[in-house]
Amino acid sequence: MSIEKRLKSAIRDVPNFPKEGIVFKDITPILLDHKLCKDIAVELAKQVKSWEIDRVVGIESRGFLFGMMLANELQIPFVPIRKKGKLPYTKVSIDYELEYGSATIEIHQDAVVKGERILIHDDLLATGGTADAAAKLLKNIGAEIAGFCFLVNLSFLNGTRVLNKHSVNNISLSTY
Ligand code: AMP
Repeated sequence: MSIEKRLKSAIRDVPNFPKEGIVFKDITPILLDHKLCKDIAVELAKQVKSWEIDRVVGIESRGFLFGMMLANELQIPFVPIRKKGKLPYTKVSIDYELEYGSATIEIHQDAVVKGERILIHDDLLATGGTADAAAKLLKNIGAEIAGFCFLVNLSFLNGTRVLNKHSVNNISLSTY
């Protein structure tokens, strides 16, 4: 079975979470299958291999799960981007707009070195707002964007279009 089929059969659709009208793609069942987790990390590593990546950045919190596994697979460092107020050391922040209201994400100031090429990872690409903010935050501290990778792309929301200005390298293991 293809990795996309295996992912889709593991992902659980939860209607009307966290609010009415949203179908939440719950990836937690994937985590019960260690073979699938390993195969996901290997497949992501294979698909991003030619992008000359120095570090993987994962976006809190579901971006940590496979971001860390992928960094390990590529044998390069992993860096977390966290929600406001969680990081203990000197940090830089960026505010961005959500569908309703706004959010802030942060990164440790010394987490990347100027000129490094960063792969941004999250579990799911929807409108692209979160990954776009992560890319802007990384550029603000002198990094270059090597590309983006996700487990799931909700392609009807056109997130890829938003991210193209940072990098055209953008892959997802499954598309809806
Ligand atoms: P966006 O900024 O619109 O691309 O949204 C992406 C972020 O929101 C990711 O961190 C996802 O984990 C989360 N997210 C958005 N929509 C969904 C969904 N339908 N199911 C699960 N997570 C979602």
